[in-house]
Amino acid sequence: MRLTPRKEEVSAVVALLESQDFDSADQMAKAILKEAGEILQMRDWFALAHTWNDGSRGLNWAPFGNESEAVAFANKIAIGGTARIIKLYAPGVTLANIDGKKGWKGYCQDAECGHAPNVHSAVAAARGACHIPTCPCGQFRK
Ligand SMILES: [Zn+2]
Ligand SMILES: [Zn+2]
Repeated sequence: MRLTPRKEEVSAVVALLESQDFDSADQMAKAILKEAGEILQMRDWFALAHTWNDGSRGLNWAPFGNESEAVAFANKIAIGGTARIIKLYAPGVTLANIDGKKGWKGYCQDAECGHAPNVHSAVAAARGACHIPTCPCGQFRK
């Protein structure tokens, strides 16, 4: 699973590494792994869905960071049959578009908001106010 770490992902892990909140290396390691899980859930992945030559359902593999990684894997294992690449959309992004994702790049940086750009008004009169009924945000903040 090939991935290029993004700046904000690196910062999130660095913040944990530099934190004084942990009593042991074990606790810190757990927090870092949880953070990494959350980070990975905010990314799209690719899967390889395989069919044997007789048309029966084959084996499926995932995740791959991009299509060429999936193709390289398929060529390497060379087990016959055919395979197709399926894009797996990030469940974290879909959830964040509903629930918001405070402090996450691409989402509103207003401390009480964190909602997706597309739930903020595009009407000039509303000045980009957030449409989520319980949200006090008056303007999308980058
Ligand atoms: Zn909001
Ligand atoms: Zn907002």
